[in-house]
Amino acid sequence: MFGKTITLFRVFGFAVRIDWSWIIIVALVVWSLAGGVFPRLYEGLYWGSYLVMGLAAALGLFASIVVHELCHSLVARRYGLPMKGITLFLFGGIAEMGDEPPSPKAELLMAAAGPAASVVLCGVFLGASLISGAAGGPMAVTGVLRWIGYINGVLVVFNLIPGFPLDGGRVLRAILWRWKGDLRGATRTASRVGAVFGAVLIGLGIVNLLLLNPIGGLWWILIGMFIRGAAKMGYQQVLVRQALQGEPVRRFMNPQPVTVPPAISVDELVSDFVYHYHYKMFPVVEDGRLAGCVTTRQIKQVPRAQWTRRAVGELAVGCSPENTIAPDADAVAALSQMNQHHVSRLMVVSDGRLEGVLSLKDLLRFLSLKLELEGGEAGEGAKANVPDSEDTGWEE
Ligand SMILES: [Zn+2]
Repeated sequence: MFGKTITLFRVFGFAVRIDWSWIIIVALVVWSLAGGVFPRLYEGLYWGSYLVMGLAAALGLFASIVVHELCHSLVARRYGLPMKGITLFLFGGIAEMGDEPPSPKAELLMAAAGPAASVVLCGVFLGASLISGAAGGPMAVTGVLRWIGYINGVLVVFNLIPGFPLDGGRVLRAILWRWKGDLRGATRTASRVGAVFGAVLIGLGIVNLLLLNPIGGLWWILIGMFIRGAAKMGYQQVLVRQALQGEPVRRFMNPQPVTVPPAISVDELVSDFVYHYHYKMFPVVEDGRLAGCVTTRQIKQVPRAQWTRRAVGELAVGCSPENTIAPDADAVAALSQMNQHHVSRLMVVSDGRLEGVLSLKDLLRFLSLKLELEGGEAGEGAKANVPDSEDTGWEE
């Protein structure tokens, strides 16, 4: 779902990023406000004023979403959850959580913090627009303040839809979790409600399309599809986390991985290793110590004519924290590391020695077996969650 993101700034230690899709949304917001909404509501202003109003309103929307997400993040941090930052994308923001909340109470407070902030912002901006209007302030200022207040109200209503992973869905999940004591079951129910809401929105969108309101209709359909997708993913994440949590990497790694000695030529590497094992990355090991890694990307940089003359040791680059992990690290951490850096093999290293290689395939095989045997109907989610290296462009 996420494309490239740009980090804008840090606030309270959280990185605020925007997804490229957000720039399109901002442009659409400015365009529709400056070109339609504001000229209709506040007649008789110079066109440049409408443009400035549109830009100011978009800035207000941006700040409002950041404050909303920041409130989620601050509460999450109080409960010791690792927060990766705030990303603004197509339909608002996401406070990226590295883990599940520790208790129903923590989840409830975290989920409620965002909408609570939006309620306050809604009141503050509407109040300010009333004061500005009563004091005879410029029409443009009053109008922008009123719109920012109104849009915060929309954020409250949208986020309180009781479908996971929206805030309202998290509140629902917290209540169910507290009531039944089962996080997985609570997530399943809240996700289903989310999927139903998504379907309702898609239905409304189709009705709008039929009523010849194509733009509005497409919006409803897009948002509905987004909620359905997010609901499914949210549930799968819980399944994966529960299955892998507390399992050390050591359990899943291959303790006798294929390694390459630094002295062989690139030609031998290609014919005896790359074409034989079909991996894109090999650890280079000398006397049991990990000397580095060699990938097909580095091989490609060497002209074909030099393959017999160049040794693998010259090509190998040092291993980075992106592709190495400790044997006692949690398998959940390994999976998220693979996810983040788009690699499907991690070298398991302790004290500079290569202990084994952990591959995504082995992790996922364990996962689908565990879910099949213990997860009941949970098994349905396991397969869909398996990211295929071919279509994600992950490196083997
Ligand atoms: Zn929220």
